[in-house]
Amino acid sequence: MNHVGFGYDLHRLRKEEGELLLATCAIPSPYVVEAHSDGDVLLHALSNALLSSVGEEDIGVYFPDTSSATLNMSSLEILEFSLAKVKEKGYILNNAVVCINLEKPKLLPYRKQIKEKLCQLLSLDDECVSIQATTGEKLGPIGNSEALCCYATVLVSKE
Ligand code: MG
Repeated sequence: MNHVGFGYDLHRLRKEEGELLLATCAIPSPYVVEAHSDGDVLLHALSNALLSSVGEEDIGVYFPDTSSATLNMSSLEILEFSLAKVKEKGYILNNAVVCINLEKPKLLPYRKQIKEKLCQLLSLDDECVSIQATTGEKLGPIGNSEALCCYATVLVSKE
């Protein structure tokens, strides 16, 4: 049996020289993320995709941003929790596709690094992970660097 999962997340950006965290990779950036946790939008979208693939609630339910317990928490913890839910229900992860929507910085120089990290975090081969990156074409909150967002899909299966 195959199940598709889908996830989405968005965070506000603030103009400040610093780093963006994408799949735990620190990317030099003229904007930083405003977040309750470490703001790894890619891992948040991916975790939502994993949870949705097995009919679970989203990460906002498990890790509310109103709780002091989740303040500055590592998104790796959220990903591990989500992977465990998939496993607990008897499913294995087959592949993952993520699409990051961000105006600046350009992610092309970092895509290989992000992909390798994601393969490692998900225990998936290179051909089972895809990282796409698009800009907002200078339109709307993404295009004006007021926010970045990420979409993710996964396929899980069980015998
Ligand atoms: Mg988030």
